[in-house]
Amino acid sequence: MLQRVDVKRKALADYAPIVGDEIVAGIRALAEPLQGARVVHINATAFGGGVAEMFSSLVPLMRDVGLDAEWQVIEGEDEFFNVTKACHNGLQGMDIAFTEKMKSIWQRYNEANAAKFEGEYDFIVIHDPQPAGLLHYHGHDGGHWAWRCHIDTSHPNPAYWNFFAPYISEYEAGIFTLEQYVGPGVSFDHLAIITPTIDPLSPKNAPMAEDKARDIVASFGVDVTRPLITQISRFDPWKDPLGVIDAYRIVKERIPEVQLALVGSMASDDPEGWYYVDKTIRHAGEDFDVYILHNFHGVGGLEVGAFQTASDVVVQKSTREGFGLVVTEPMWKGKPVVGGNVGGIPLQVIDGKTGFLVDTVEACAEKVLYLLEHPEESAQMGADAREHVRDNFLTTRHLADYLRLFSQLAAG
Ligand code: UDP
Repeated sequence: MLQRVDVKRKALADYAPIVGDEIVAGIRALAEPLQGARVVHINATAFGGGVAEMFSSLVPLMRDVGLDAEWQVIEGEDEFFNVTKACHNGLQGMDIAFTEKMKSIWQRYNEANAAKFEGEYDFIVIHDPQPAGLLHYHGHDGGHWAWRCHIDTSHPNPAYWNFFAPYISEYEAGIFTLEQYVGPGVSFDHLAIITPTIDPLSPKNAPMAEDKARDIVASFGVDVTRPLITQISRFDPWKDPLGVIDAYRIVKERIPEVQLALVGSMASDDPEGWYYVDKTIRHAGEDFDVYILHNFHGVGGLEVGAFQTASDVVVQKSTREGFGLVVTEPMWKGKPVVGGNVGGIPLQVIDGKTGFLVDTVEACAEKVLYLLEHPEESAQMGADAREHVRDNFLTTRHLADYLRLFSQLAAG
């Protein structure tokens, strides 16, 4: 059996004060024909990164509206996760080799995990490339199988895309964040474009008093009387923590008291994270105004929320980004974000209105300086950012999208 992940209970009714009664009633109507439907979401990690984050809310909410939903994770050793991290990088376009040995490791673990997958389900949603071979090795069994791609595959390395295309083409439904992520040679009976969302009631996103947020941030040594720039991200080359440090250095020339926090959780399926955190620490050198923190320092969801609330400017200088929940989260807290103009970030950051989109270190520094030096405008952009999230990127919308997709699949 694959490992099941426990999730806390959640009630849809609690979301009515945030999104309105009409949305909640609409979701209940969508769930009506799906009562008792058996749903399983399968991914590679129970902790770290946006996918695990979303399941903690979506799975309990699916249960609350009457579906029999669960979350399972596949198993693997380092040799597998080293290959899947290469797949993540290759599918996002990195110029790296994909050897026959790597392919066979991926196939072997997918075959072994498929053999462990038990139970009967109406809807099986497989997330990301790590377990994408489960359908191939398990075979169709009467359920509806969907593959959900969370990464930016708009410019994939062909060696990787061509290997994955036959596996993902076996799925009845493909779910992507943007249509352009569907590469050549892949088609589905159902293609759903669904953007990720955040849970406004999770400890990370629930309202937090500024004082409390500042106290939490101060407990990590940050001087809360001085300006703070933050980027929250796994330590991953595509999140460009080194570029954030370079941009911060430009800002510091004009505002010497500025500080930078780079906060990142170490996901269990991301062995490259430790290498990249070391690289980031080396790049920061002896500058003690740069704080490099992760979950092993005790940074959990609440602390991430505190950093997002207490920062003067939040940056997400990614060079590839499937969607970027770390953009949505601070926007919901009323912070404009300076984000890389890639992947799902432009869906969220409307340039000049809910934040700024940037392509270079210099542009990033310039926009950060602008926000630090124009606090009133920054506050207005932050307020617009929050409304943009309320309208588009809260978990209730995600739940509705899944319910719609399941009904379409059930209807054939
Ligand atoms: N996250 C966290 N602690 C950290 C760093 C990240 O809880 O130290 C969370 C972050 O708040 C967000 C998720 O991990 O909810 C990252 O999702 P995103 O879509 O931004 O990126 P991914 O890691 O999936 O590429």
